[in-house]
Amino acid sequence: MSLAPAYLSPSNSPIEQYLRQLLAKHAGLEEGAVADYIPELAKADPRSFGICIATRDGHIYEVGDTRQAFTIQSISKALTYGIALEDHGEDFVLAKVGVEPSGDAFNAISLKPESGAPFNPMINAGAIAICGQISPADGQTRSEKILARLSAYAGRTLTVDEAVYLSESQTGHRNRAIGWMLRNFDILDHEPTDILESYFRQCAIQVTCRDLAIMGATLANQGRNPLTRERAVDPAYVHNVLSVMSTCGMYDYSGEWLYRVGLPAKSGVGGGILAVLPGQLGIGIYSPPLDRQGNSARGIKVCEDLSRDLALHLFANGTAPQPSLRLTYDGSQVSSCRRRPSRLQQKLRATGHRIRVIELQGELIFSTFEPVIRLALKQAPYCDFVILNLRYVMTIDEVALKMIIELKQTLSELGLQMMVCDGEQFAKVFQEAGLEQSMQFANEDTALEHCENELLKRIVGPDWNKLTPVSLKDCFLLSELDAEELAWLDGEMGTRESPQGDYLIHAGDPGDSLYLLVAGSVEVRLPETSNQAGKRIDVFEAGMSFGEMGLLDGLPRSANVVVLDDAVCRVISRPLFESLDSVRPGLKIKLLKRLSYLLSYNLRKSNDEVAAYRG
Ligand code: GLU
Repeated sequence: MSLAPAYLSPSNSPIEQYLRQLLAKHAGLEEGAVADYIPELAKADPRSFGICIATRDGHIYEVGDTRQAFTIQSISKALTYGIALEDHGEDFVLAKVGVEPSGDAFNAISLKPESGAPFNPMINAGAIAICGQISPADGQTRSEKILARLSAYAGRTLTVDEAVYLSESQTGHRNRAIGWMLRNFDILDHEPTDILESYFRQCAIQVTCRDLAIMGATLANQGRNPLTRERAVDPAYVHNVLSVMSTCGMYDYSGEWLYRVGLPAKSGVGGGILAVLPGQLGIGIYSPPLDRQGNSARGIKVCEDLSRDLALHLFANGTAPQPSLRLTYDGSQVSSCRRRPSRLQQKLRATGHRIRVIELQGELIFSTFEPVIRLALKQAPYCDFVILNLRYVMTIDEVALKMIIELKQTLSELGLQMMVCDGEQFAKVFQEAGLEQSMQFANEDTALEHCENELLKRIVGPDWNKLTPVSLKDCFLLSELDAEELAWLDGEMGTRESPQGDYLIHAGDPGDSLYLLVAGSVEVRLPETSNQAGKRIDVFEAGMSFGEMGLLDGLPRSANVVVLDDAVCRVISRPLFESLDSVRPGLKIKLLKRLSYLLSYNLRKSNDEVAAYRG
């Protein structure tokens, strides 16, 4: 036996080490015999043995003969079932092929007596009927379509082993008999001859153990190949495929397999087994000798060990999914970046608790989102706004999506506005579900600003936001100065008028002056070099000042300052600031007092936010 592929990969992962031990443990098992009813299959090397696990995010652990090609055989039946469902929908397919375990051999000529329908799509009768339902399309023959779809599952171009195909075609009289039975009962609506050839070709598609694991991971990943990101099957039908694998995938061992291993799986007479842990991983095993039921003898042992050692059994897995509720805080603890004049600031401090932010995470499904509904409804009497922050959400299933829309509706009936933020990746599904664009915000900052503005509008009235130029004495920084000091400073300071869009400050500029904004508004944005380039971190309006940090510590500017509304600034340059020591020491102390108040205000705001974000 060659272990080369595994040993060539310089992996020290304990997972690969474990798989190597597993391979060594079962390599000596001499039970079972290589299938020979298709003459060409008898040529397989009984010592070949490979184990591969592919994770849902596309990492592959492989040991042994994982790159050795063999024919997929019956494993193809699970995958073609998905294609037929896509082509015709559940009702049509179920009317022709059942989903009950049959208890008969895979090649039994057994059909339900009344309807002639095969018991399930995993026995040959069912699989041949399913093959007949696959419609040739887009210039592809049925066989080409099947090959292309299975290639999408594997993430590479697969080919047919012509020798095995011919061998089965020349000897597959029993399957031909099944085909004609199906035609007799109108389960096939035309002559089965070409359908049977397609069926023989699908069974002869060459795969490796690695391919099987990736195909399994594709099913685990809702039908999307985790390596190529290509969709191999419509996610709406993944559970149908996995269900028939669970109940009928392992021939007459299916019941015991589910009991012992607990994973949807399908095996084939070529010696392959494909198993899936839904939502998590795919497993591929290759070892040609088959046991009495027709399953790979070593494969069964390996899967029993894997399931027990790695706790993969579906029904032994009582772990609850990660809760969706990450953190919650209100608008008095965390506020938007827009600075408010102190009269508005006070109002927000008193009423900010009426904005409730709920940070969500992970996968939103019924059981993880249900506690969020409870929380939102419990908070409803105390709030006017609920923001669902989706920054750490990975997926939202259809049920959770519906629950979000219904929660919004219920809250709106109670007089609350609900919005989402940081959910760019879900914009399309939200749009389809009918969530207005205006209730989707790019980030928490803009959502908070929206809520604060709405609150202020309610409390202060429609004119709350009127930007009016202020006189010097209304500038917070100068509020301690008397009239004479103001007049003197007025004569000393420079003036800078800047139109909307102008950069008042560029990151990296020397920090050589302090700006008093007497008209308009400006926004502070992270520089292009930052990993959050362009993100706003502050908004100032008339009456506020900025640029004090550079003046105090002499360091270059750390962000850009861009004018939002035509701005007029009065400028205290470093020379002027320093000259105050000797010419106007009293005035400088008053300025410094205000500056230290501003700094402590900023620090307190940051502390509050850090405390809120820590939960
Ligand atoms: N081509 C095989 C047949 O129909 C598939 C059998 C199998 O893997 O179970 O006989």
